[in-house]
Amino acid sequence: MESTKYDAKSFKGGLHPPDDFKHFTDKKAIEVCPLPEELIIPLSQHIGAPAKCLVKKGDEVKKGQVIAEPAGFVSLPIHASTSGTVKAVEMRLHPYGTDSMCVVIEPDGNDEWVDGLEGIDPEKATIDEIKAKISGAGVCGMGGAAFPTHVKLSPPDDKKIDKFLLNGVECEPFLTADHRLMLEQTDRMMDGIQLVKKVLGVDEACIGIEVNKPDAIDKCTEVGKSQGVKVTPLKLQYPQGCEKRLIDAETGREVPSGGLPMDVGVVVQNVGTVAAVSDAVREGKPFIERVVTISGAIVKEPKNLLVRIGTPMSFLIEQCGGLTEEAVKIIHGGPMMGNALPSLDAPVCRGTSGVLLFGKDMVRETKIGPCIRCGRCVSVCPVRLMPTTIYSAISYNEVEAAEEACANDCVECGCCGFVCPSNIPLVQAIRQAKNAIWAAKS
Ligand code: SF4
Ligand code: SF4
Repeated sequence: MESTKYDAKSFKGGLHPPDDFKHFTDKKAIEVCPLPEELIIPLSQHIGAPAKCLVKKGDEVKKGQVIAEPAGFVSLPIHASTSGTVKAVEMRLHPYGTDSMCVVIEPDGNDEWVDGLEGIDPEKATIDEIKAKISGAGVCGMGGAAFPTHVKLSPPDDKKIDKFLLNGVECEPFLTADHRLMLEQTDRMMDGIQLVKKVLGVDEACIGIEVNKPDAIDKCTEVGKSQGVKVTPLKLQYPQGCEKRLIDAETGREVPSGGLPMDVGVVVQNVGTVAAVSDAVREGKPFIERVVTISGAIVKEPKNLLVRIGTPMSFLIEQCGGLTEEAVKIIHGGPMMGNALPSLDAPVCRGTSGVLLFGKDMVRETKIGPCIRCGRCVSVCPVRLMPTTIYSAISYNEVEAAEEACANDCVECGCCGFVCPSNIPLVQAIRQAKNAIWAAKS
């Protein structure tokens, strides 16, 4: 429910989902998920080059050991999430929906850390040493895009950063992992914010939080007061969590078409990501676990779980008491921007914010009709695109026309398809247009 006690900001466009369905888990404290019988760890968990595997079947590994090394600057190492034996290096179902190379580990139950993981004193460390700790720990964006954090913290010299924004919006329905983290791990998050401020050379940071999380707004405001961290209450408006919309809402600055936040002097990090930065720098702890929301009306006991990377989704459902009926739809992430999965065999990866299960009552058959030129898709598009123009262009295979209509600027938020009275699959068509534009250039 939207609170009126704040003078909240927002951006132009977008929509107000009729219900955010966060009540399933927003009061549920984070629980630690036990170790499963096998961990399936994908080599590709971030934007950029997949990591290069360093282990083979039969190898013994320790918790936190590097099992795959980065394949370039825009890449990250992958670590074992517990100690055990490598059962296989093989193709498995990736949480993004396709098969992908994974290291499968059978835990030995000892959960024994690898030797040599050490933190540094950030007061004495150089900026490069702090960034090396962050990249070595495999820290990436936890809000969905999974962009390597050290890359975002290394803008070119000609890009002067004067704003550091924290994304605590979590505008997708059902998801509450960031909400609980802001409430329960406030100090860890604030510490990560201080470290990133030091790296960026900025004095102040600002956390954007939607007003349906008043407890998180109040707690972060109180704790942040003495630490140069402000909180901006934001109206409920989807997709406020997309970083360019957040920048618009908080600063009024507009990232140019094809540009990046650094082009307008801004760096944005997810609240969970900065908490992982604190672990990486202070303790040398790799990014091997994260908070995940498991929710949906057919989940017997929806939860927020602290989960090891590689834990199969079927195991998470067991921790939630199972399902009340067969799942007709499985979603990785949120219902608006997440992806559908064919089964619960896929594991949790670094970008997994939620696993949602829907029964037949929540999944309606939709009949696609003709475009009636109502303009609703245009009025909700937060990027001010003409979804119907891109749809029409790609339907006739006019790739250049789709590019001229700025298909590549689409953030795939799903607002256009959500409001379309004819149920036209606009986002799928725009995704297809982006692929066709990319293929035409390569
Ligand atoms: S065109 Fe893209 S950015 Fe615009 S509403 Fe549709 S999905 Fe969102
Ligand atoms: S919302 Fe649907 S019907 Fe209306 S203009 Fe857009 S594509 Fe056409």
